[in-house]
Amino acid sequence: SNKIVIKIGSSTITSEDGTINKEFLDNLAKQVKTLMDMGKRVIIVSSGARISGVGTLGKWSRKEDIHYKQALCAIGQVELMDSYRKTFNNYDLHVAQILLTRQDFEDKARTLNIRNTLFTLIDEGVVPVINENDTVCVDEIKIGDNDVLAAYTTVLWNADLLFILSDIDGIYDKSPKENKDATLIKWVNNIEELEKNISIGKTSSFGTGGIQTKIKAAKIVNGYGIPLIISNGKKENIIEKLNGESESGTTFYED
Ligand code: ADP
Repeated sequence: SNKIVIKIGSSTITSEDGTINKEFLDNLAKQVKTLMDMGKRVIIVSSGARISGVGTLGKWSRKEDIHYKQALCAIGQVELMDSYRKTFNNYDLHVAQILLTRQDFEDKARTLNIRNTLFTLIDEGVVPVINENDTVCVDEIKIGDNDVLAAYTTVLWNADLLFILSDIDGIYDKSPKENKDATLIKWVNNIEELEKNISIGKTSSFGTGGIQTKIKAAKIVNGYGIPLIISNGKKENIIEKLNGESESGTTFYED
């Protein structure tokens, strides 16, 4: 795979208290640098703006009011990008922020503009970091979560692979946090069969979509012949996984 989209979940990029997980981010930057030195190109789709906003303001800011949530995203997005910029700079990489909404994928002219900007950034060796523009999005006009945003981005760029980093090793037959005997499903070549055979539990506290949206993302990219891998961001070395040296992770590829 030469063109890789990497999606980072909230619980992977931040700790429970909303502070950025520096160790994870440093490791990510290092891996992206290695991939780029190998001639591969990378786009990142990153969650974590809202919980970073909570981290910035403090615990009392966990309110559910929609405008409050949007305000948290506005605060946290800056915090998030600040961390990306500093960490990636340590590896001589530049990052660029792109905030998108559903309309950006529905309107041809807008989609074309995004494509051209993305391609320009990538030609310049810059790493685009994409997130949904939560500050301007009310629920009705939302893509809703970054698994699906990452899938749209993968298709738009015609990438070779979508890599989703979460806080679990992959998809299990039942929710791993609630069932100690859950087994990891390593390979999915029929998503409808999978859906019949697994049970889905709760998402992590700041996760939005959970497993449902990861399956939706798999359907979208597999529909274009592009595989999707779900792995544990806390322990997975992306490069090992790409080389088939790692046992963990779920790979979706419909033939
Ligand atoms: P992210 O923020 O990385 O997108 P989410 O919290 O939205 O992650 O979704 C991942 C969570 O889904 C995991 O923490 C896990 O506990 C939960 N989950 C529920 N059912 C399953 C299942 N069948 N297989 C794997 N994870 C599951």
